[in-house]
Amino acid sequence: MSDTKNLMQNADENLLHTYNRFPVVLDHGEGVHIYDKDGKRYLDFAAGIAVCALGYSNEHWKNALKDQIDKLTHCSNLFYNEPIIKAAEKVLKASGMDRVFFTNSGTEAIEGAIKAAKKYAYTRDGHAGHEIIAMDHSFHGRSIGALSVTGTKHYQEPFEPLLPGVRFATFNDLESVKAQITDKTCAIITETLQGEGGIYPADPAFLKGLRQLCDEKDILLILDEVQCGMGRTGEMFEYQSFGICPDILTSAKALGNGVPVGAFLMTERVAEKSLAPGDHGTTYGGNPFVGAAVNAVFDVFESENILENVRTMGDYLEGKLEEMVQEFSIATAHRGKGLIRGLVLTVPVGKVAARAIEKGLLVITAGKDVIRMVPPLVIGKEDVDEMADILKSVLKEFEEGNAPA
Ligand SMILES: *Cc1c(COP(=O)(O)O)cnc(C)c1O
Repeated sequence: MSDTKNLMQNADENLLHTYNRFPVVLDHGEGVHIYDKDGKRYLDFAAGIAVCALGYSNEHWKNALKDQIDKLTHCSNLFYNEPIIKAAEKVLKASGMDRVFFTNSGTEAIEGAIKAAKKYAYTRDGHAGHEIIAMDHSFHGRSIGALSVTGTKHYQEPFEPLLPGVRFATFNDLESVKAQITDKTCAIITETLQGEGGIYPADPAFLKGLRQLCDEKDILLILDEVQCGMGRTGEMFEYQSFGICPDILTSAKALGNGVPVGAFLMTERVAEKSLAPGDHGTTYGGNPFVGAAVNAVFDVFESENILENVRTMGDYLEGKLEEMVQEFSIATAHRGKGLIRGLVLTVPVGKVAARAIEKGLLVITAGKDVIRMVPPLVIGKEDVDEMADILKSVLKEFEEGNAPA
């Protein structure tokens, strides 16, 4: 049996079966390509689910991590460390927020955001029992708190009862949000652009309306930019394109380019009434190693003019997706912004992704019927062209009914 087959069999026997994985054992990466154990090359339009923004083997990022390993990787939050102090400055400057808490993942950033909002309302009102409004088809993570505000019934059902006091509204429908507001509402949480749910950008009027609603009623607006933030839309954070600011922001995925790090951030106004010593903590969160990664990510964003590349390549990618919609009747629409794009298909998207992977293109899915593209933010025109060639050849097979079973 081949090494790859052995490894996959071993995984199936030992790892908890929470994922149906594609039959590929990934081994190493270079630029926007990733290679499996057998040396096969894949063009990566998945980036470890919108994580590896700088692609693979970025020299500056790699060397920053190696240097930090030689100095100090972990020291606990009972002490100060320089890399995370510098990283905090950078993420606050980029987001316009005032205070940050570093976490180990996106879901933990959501947990922190929920706690921060509840504590704010508790301090203000002198009692607990506050409610949160979240959106249908949202995705905020897998821990119990984050799952409680995730608007997908089948993710939630086996784990009920979840966090009480969560009400759901319809994304991009301001009236539906208003209908859920009570005198107990402390926060409204939404992705600025829904990722997992099917790549749905927010309407400007919806987001601005939410901001206004929150201001009127002293409700905190939590924007989850774990997936759509960190440059992916061509803005450092997507709310910046609407000229509004959240009260609490969550980030993760691309924040460390693959080193597990997330963050929740807030304004000073919220921080003053929110989490205080003893209210929240983490053992690993914000250690010097992840601090070095975050610093390196922001450095490269600046030195390599990443946002500019996202805008140009985003437009170019949009053009290619439009071609596919014109060319294939099974491709009905495309949505998204910058380098987070979805192609809506009438054929099973999991099968299309699997066939693309066989042909050397890594793509993933979102929602029920969307091929999701979240490539490294450093892709070039030739990569978009190669993606389009491969995906079109796959769509052609499906359109003609020639796809291998
Ligand atoms: C991925 C994701 C999360 C959860 O992040 P994890 O690091 O997987 O815990 C939360 N919110 C959004 C919008 C995400 O895309």
